Amino acid sequence: MPSGVYIKTAEHNRKNSEAHMTPESRERSRVTGRAMGKARAGVPQSDEHKRNNSIAHLGMYDGDKNPNWIDGRSYEPYPREFDKTKQQIRERDGNVCQRCGRTREEEGKELSVHHIDYNKQNCSDGNLITLCRSCNGKVNSNRDYWKQVFQQKLELQLV
Ligand SMILES: [Zn+2]
Repeated sequence: MPSGVYIKTAEHNRKNSEAHMTPESRERSRVTGRAMGKARAGVPQSDEHKRNNSIAHLGMYDGDKNPNWIDGRSYEPYPREFDKTKQQIRERDGNVCQRCGRTREEEGKELSVHHIDYNKQNCSDGNLITLCRSCNGKVNSNRDYWKQVFQQKLELQLV
């Protein structure tokens, strides 16, 4: 093993152990921390640095509290309940892509839920259908055609 790597590891372990235990080591850390603070004083953090810090902090805080809410807000302009609806639609469709038959297992993650009439506010069962990622991409062109295909497919299933 190269000596540089070994030294880094030893340093890392030492820092870890200082984070725990004995009042003595805690006091040493506190003093060191104060000294470091003094050394840093007068060197202002850049705005970018501050912004990064607060973003990281917000993400952690909210993520712990309610990850679904954050996901919904960040990536989708849908109502919050849509996560639940999506899961119901996937179950209705057997977790299989309704266009090509690809399964959730083959996809390696949850399948997409597609809005048949392309209106993302319309979350009724009859407007939602399970698609794999690939098919979900394909149906973005020829919209009138796909809308018809999926509407007919659902009508047949629901009768
Ligand atoms: Zn598919």
